[in-house]
Amino acid sequence: MNKKGLTIKELNSLLKFWQKRLLLNNWDLSIRIVEFKRKDYKQSGDIKVFPRKKKAVVLLTNNPFRNEESVLVHELVHLILWDFDIFSEKLALENSKTKLKGKHGQYMEKLESTVEHLTKAFLKNHRNIR
Ligand SMILES: [Zn+2]
Repeated sequence: MNKKGLTIKELNSLLKFWQKRLLLNNWDLSIRIVEFKRKDYKQSGDIKVFPRKKKAVVLLTNNPFRNEESVLVHELVHLILWDFDIFSEKLALENSKTKLKGKHGQYMEKLESTVEHLTKAFLKNHRNIR
């Protein structure tokens, strides 16, 4: 597959760097370059998590339109929040089925803004140290 932007080698060294920095050393992490097919929005990344195996695969677009390091850190922040996210999402889904309509959508917005905040903070602190 034709990959624009950073090379796989560069992405893997960023993955190693951030894995250490975010204290995710007990995880088996890897990167896969994909072509996202969603039509409702342009997607730059995703993460597939296999908690029992302590394994996760970061999916990155072959045609990046955002800073790829930010996308990578964003997906790793999702991994940090994974257990909390699954637990909370289940509660939000249960509540969406009954009287609290639309709570799941609100939950997803709150999760994404928290992930974005942490991503920016990690990247900014890292740049100040360098
Ligand atoms: Zn996200």
